[in-house]
Amino acid sequence: MKYGIFSDIHSNSEALEKVLMELEELQVDSIVCLGDIVGYGANPNECVEKVKEIADVCVAGNHDYGVVGKTPIDQFSDRAKTSVLWTQKILKEENHHYLNGLPLTQKKNGTFFVHSSPRDPESWIYLITRSEGMLAFVRFEEKICFVGHSHYPLVFTQGKEGFGYHRNESFLLDPETRYIINVGSVGQPRDQDPRAAFVLYDSDAREIKILRVSYDVKSAQKKIRDAGLPSSLADRLATGD
Ligand code: ZN
Repeated sequence: MKYGIFSDIHSNSEALEKVLMELEELQVDSIVCLGDIVGYGANPNECVEKVKEIADVCVAGNHDYGVVGKTPIDQFSDRAKTSVLWTQKILKEENHHYLNGLPLTQKKNGTFFVHSSPRDPESWIYLITRSEGMLAFVRFEEKICFVGHSHYPLVFTQGKEGFGYHRNESFLLDPETRYIINVGSVGQPRDQDPRAAFVLYDSDAREIKILRVSYDVKSAQKKIRDAGLPSSLADRLATGD
């Protein structure tokens, strides 16, 4: 079975469309979205409607819950708060309903899916340090867990040689090792690579590939500026920071 797994679209429909085109070419069997469909970008309705149509599994991100009032607005930075309030105003009722109904975690075929961390998913912890990775492994039973949230592709491992983490883009899964795989961000990468990130997981070949694709950054930036959202949200798309 081939899975296309992505996270943190952040209302960037240009980036989402390009990732979906790549996944179609790769002939994936199932699509998984790890949350933060909305926030920051200018096309929340288009992105929610697309995910609703194509994702077999979807979990909630902090921006999704922020927009529907499930995560308090005071937990967001100033520019994130501005975009949450803007999104609330233009989000259609049926799309609000979809975000409101998203679960925090899902399990499928021996794999665990969560936006931030298996450790207390609604605290929206950033899973970026080795110590946080170690704490996260005890909070799920499956061999593999996929996360997003930090917008930074990263792989944590727990195996015979203890805990580790690496940034390999392509690797085979060892049956004796457990993994937490951060799939990066579709619509707002923060690892100095502005291309949209996503993961191809082939469960038969036991292979993970963290992939990147270029998209029309200028068009996404223009929409953000035209919508009156903070211009720094447009600027950062060009640099991936
Ligand atoms: Zn995010």
